[in-house]
Amino acid sequence: MSSYKDELFMSKPHEECGVFGIYGKDLDVSRMAYYALYALQHRGQEGSGIVVSDGENLKLKKGFGLVSDVFTPDTLSNLKGNLALGHVRYSTTGSSDPHNTQPLVFEYSKGEIALAHNGQITNNVELKKLLTSEGSVFQTTTDSEIVANLIGRYHNESIEDSLAKCMSDMKGAYCLVIATKDSLLALRDPYGFHPLCFGTLGDGYVVASESCALDVIGAKFVRDILPGEIIVINENGVKTIQAVAPKRKAHCVFEYVYFARPDSTLDGFNVSNTRREFGRQLAREYKVDADVVISVPDSGTVAARGYAEESGIPFEEGLTKNRYIGRTFIQPTQDMRDLAVRLKLNPIREAIKGKRVIMVDDSLVRGTTSRNLVSLLKEVGAKEVHLCLSSPPVLHSCYYGIDTSNEKELVATTHTKEEIRKMIGADGLHYLSLEGMLGTFREDKGNFCCACFDGDYPQACSFTKDNKDE
Ligand code: AMP
Repeated sequence: MSSYKDELFMSKPHEECGVFGIYGKDLDVSRMAYYALYALQHRGQEGSGIVVSDGENLKLKKGFGLVSDVFTPDTLSNLKGNLALGHVRYSTTGSSDPHNTQPLVFEYSKGEIALAHNGQITNNVELKKLLTSEGSVFQTTTDSEIVANLIGRYHNESIEDSLAKCMSDMKGAYCLVIATKDSLLALRDPYGFHPLCFGTLGDGYVVASESCALDVIGAKFVRDILPGEIIVINENGVKTIQAVAPKRKAHCVFEYVYFARPDSTLDGFNVSNTRREFGRQLAREYKVDADVVISVPDSGTVAARGYAEESGIPFEEGLTKNRYIGRTFIQPTQDMRDLAVRLKLNPIREAIKGKRVIMVDDSLVRGTTSRNLVSLLKEVGAKEVHLCLSSPPVLHSCYYGIDTSNEKELVATTHTKEEIRKMIGADGLHYLSLEGMLGTFREDKGNFCCACFDGDYPQACSFTKDNKDE
């Protein structure tokens, strides 16, 4: 019999995504959204979409593939308006249903509305049951459609009041950007699981999953959207509402480990600096005689540099990454996953041959990447390979929107450290300790969700044992 956890995990695709919104009368909003989505492309490569409003109607263009596949100069020229929202969607097995691409546009009693979502609503199963029992019908498996139907349920309220009610109903992780014909709204769950920031561009306003999207379009970062806050932007300017009381902060630590771009600053911490500190801490925890430090590019690179700086062992580029391949984490079969690693990364023989190598990667999930890389490094003559991970063992599934895979597939839940070391053929294996990792955030160290590492889910869901914070 499948458990609630399994049901939740299998019931829907995981909404790891990037969202963006822009409002400005004199701005080329669709082109800005296009460039911003380019900057957020690492958050999702399966599909992308942009909705614009010209004050009267919403116009949508979305499709499968990268931003550059979906939009042409012509499609962008057809998207004229003074507000836009955009979305990039992550690729996960079994979720390649065109209906699931976003933004989602729907019509309710107050007119057309569009929404884009990042995160995962953990009581989606219950909410869907409730909504269907009241007559709602669904055509996608996304959380966004649940939000759309919840908004419809509160259609007598103003849009911000109905969103505030939705926020009281929803559990889990959600960053939402919403467009009506004349307003742009953005909101963040009361734990602040995933990042969402706010900025200005000329006389206009922008919101984005990561600050790198603001940089790219020349917008000025103003601040992070607060946990539990709704921002409403329209011709009256900007209004902010603390719609639900903030809970303990639970920023996803995996955003810093892997997911976000190093040039982004999330909730006050620059991702690159944070990864460098992870690497330095790793070097303090694991000292080993070696000749060279290399990284698994790109997400392991800054941590590897930090390790090299702290240990005094020189950093070298030891692996070349094929830049024309997207992130290859989720592949349907093990053979395909093995091939994908080789397609993506090739060792630089001259940097490796005859050397004792410390290879730094950001995380070990199934172990596929590391196993393949260690064997490649040995093939080109590495004397020793020590694998250093700039995060603790991934032991638990994430139910808040990061695809850390089903627990049964996580190598660290089923194998001891020594078994894993042997399995991947490394001479040494070290994970950054959770304490060491959180220590790098200094006084803010209690503000993170580390559930994938410690199983401590900040918000109780039907599957967690206790009902803390409720
Ligand atoms: P694995 O090969 O299954 O051990 O996966 C580890 C590799 O995948 C590391 O090199 C990470 O950079 C990368 N990775 C970790 N988490 C994710 C994720 N949620 N999505 C895509 N790639 C990931």
